[in-house]
Order: sequence, then structure tokens, then C-alpha cells
Amino acid sequence: MANIVYTFENHVYLNITNSCPCRCEFCIRKNGDSVGDADTLWFSGHNPSFDEIKAEIDAFDFSKYSGEIIFCGYGEPTCAYENLIKTAKYLKTKLPQCKLRINTNGLSDLLNKKPTAKEICENLDIVSISLNAPTSEKYEALCHPTFKEKAFPAILKFAEECKKYDVTVKFSLVDVISKEDIADCQKLADKMGIPLRVREYTAD
Ligand code: SF4
Repeated sequence: MANIVYTFENHVYLNITNSCPCRCEFCIRKNGDSVGDADTLWFSGHNPSFDEIKAEIDAFDFSKYSGEIIFCGYGEPTCAYENLIKTAKYLKTKLPQCKLRINTNGLSDLLNKKPTAKEICENLDIVSISLNAPTSEKYEALCHPTFKEKAFPAILKFAEECKKYDVTVKFSLVDVISKEDIADCQKLADKMGIPLRVREYTAD
């Protein structure tokens, strides 16, 4: 069984699914089986049930960690939408002071065939959305979403929706694209009023 709860650079992360509708060129999953103190982030056989997620949370000593708890593993968290929301609710009950963040590809509405920003924002505090590219064509070429040309507009719409709620919304990208594309992403993010974080690509 893969690690569900793991730590990396003094933050607690939750790995709740290996499913993802993208195949990003820079995906960290290509580089190894684990991150931080995890043994492996690959589930064998099935993605975890809520009871399995809850059991790992209950067994983990959160007292040493005061920062955000981050939904981010070897898959897109909103692919496990029900477990994501249930787990967020459970954590808020168990650790009322905790700040919950999701690192998402922003494709939740397409994945779940319904608007999801409201429920996500009601249960989490920080929504970090991978922008990755300045246009739909460039996004498709880099991230290969199964939703093809529907993906990029859906990401922007999801980000706009999240801004309506009482959460911190951020964009991110990995610096594997050209400087010009990074500048165009920045312009797009500025136009939408969403801060953009440029992450350095590491193959580790
Ligand atoms: S969306 Fe995330 S998990 Fe999915 S392929 Fe891209 S980087 Fe990997």
C-alpha cells in the first residue's frame, strides 16, 4: 500500500489517488516512485477508500507540523472528489486550526461533470491551480489532457469561480516553458487578478 500521508520539506501532504486526466511532460511521477519521506506514492490495485485515508490520518502525528496540509500526490486530487471533500471535512473537525490547500490541475468540473468550485472552496482554504501554459494549444501540447481543447478554458473558468469564495487562489507553472510563454502566463494571471508562482523544474 502506498503512503497516503507523507511529509516533504516540513509540510504534510495527502496522496489520495493515482488517477489523472493529463500526461504533463514535466510530471514528477516520471522521475521516481516517491517524494519526501514516502516509500511509494503508487497504489497497487486500487485508489484508497475514505476509511483507508482516515486510518492513515488518525495514525499520523500532526503535532510537529503547523503549516498547511496539502492535497497533492501522484495523481489529481479532484479525481477522488468525494474522498477529497470528506477528508477535508474530517481534517477540519479533527484539527480545526489547520489550513487546507489543494494543488489541482483545475479540471475538476470536467472530471466530475458538475460545477465543483463552490464545494471545494467551502471546504479548503487555498486553491493552487496549475496554469502551465498561456494558451489552449500550448496547454494541450504540454499537458496532453484527455479533455483536449476543452481543458484550458475549463481551468480558467474554475479559477474565476474560485475567486468568488473566501479562499486564496493561486496559479502555478513549472519553468519548462519559454520565457515568452512565462511572460504571457503572467499577463493572463494579472488580467484575472490571480497571483502566479513559477516553480523550478527538478528531476529529483
Ligand atoms: S496534472 Fe499533475 S499529476 Fe497529472 S500529469 Fe500533470 S503534473 Fe502529473
